[in-house]
Amino acid sequence: MKEKGNFLGNAITEIPLKEQVLELKKKRNAVIVAHNYQLPEIQDMADYLGDSLGMARYAQKSDADVIVICGVHFMAESAAILNPEKTVLIPDLEAGCSLAECITADQLQAWKNGHPGAVVVAYVNTTAAVKALSDICCTSSNALKVVQSIPADKEILFIPDMYLGSWVRMQEPKRKIHLWNGSCHTHVRIRPEPIAELKKRHPKAEFLMHPECGCLTASMGLADHILSTDGIVRRAHESQAKEFIIATEVGILHRLEKENPGKKFYPAAEEASCEFMKKITLEKVLWSLEDMQYKVTVPKETAIAARKALDRMMEVS
Ligand code: SF4
Repeated sequence: MKEKGNFLGNAITEIPLKEQVLELKKKRNAVIVAHNYQLPEIQDMADYLGDSLGMARYAQKSDADVIVICGVHFMAESAAILNPEKTVLIPDLEAGCSLAECITADQLQAWKNGHPGAVVVAYVNTTAAVKALSDICCTSSNALKVVQSIPADKEILFIPDMYLGSWVRMQEPKRKIHLWNGSCHTHVRIRPEPIAELKKRHPKAEFLMHPECGCLTASMGLADHILSTDGIVRRAHESQAKEFIIATEVGILHRLEKENPGKKFYPAAEEASCEFMKKITLEKVLWSLEDMQYKVTVPKETAIAARKALDRMMEVS
């Protein structure tokens, strides 16, 4: 904790960190928009908590002057693209995404050159420069809908997650969908063997799985539902089951347990924790609001092109 006075002139050490953040947030007319994989203390004080699609939508509707993105860099870029007139902050610039790093704009351009006329579907876990070269974005909650919105005779280049892409391809086997060989280093830690073991130990548990998981093909037959993070949250509320096996980043368990007292949640892999998501701490959020750092901006031309791909997704979903 800092020892000096802050923007509000408070003696910081005497005021709990969370209260300082909330007070400063009010003063700045800011909102805190957090992803389901964030640390519990961040989730608990967020104005909005959800998946990347929900975050983008919330940021777009908000009338706050400042949007603090508690998530990873591409999420802050999306907020900046959708809200060019607002200040978008990320509390730690090192909160990147291994999946977004799997494809660069140059690599995508070269792939497109080899497939003239193909439609590029970009998972939102991509940089703004990559989105700018894409036709339409998608998230794990709307990927299938997005692909189904494209004329059936069109070739599709699906980037960058091969697991989400292969799940979509299984739902739409007649379409020509090419997959980029990218993956998230956190979700590939989720392996099929421990899941089979968990299923044996908890036979009544519902198994909810995120389509980014590395074990997707091997474990698909065992999954009761393949869902986005917000889909998992919804299903946990609605289901009559009392136990669940959750195959995605472990941060979501905090929300699931908090919102569903009396239900039990078992992570498919304890080690599926995203180091990038966990870079954001309460202290860094406070510093971010104090110093108005780190501002995330996207060059105008890139933002205009990327926005088209994001807007098309919003129209479809
Ligand atoms: S969990 Fe994977 S896809 Fe999500 S932010 Fe972390 S590295 Fe990126």
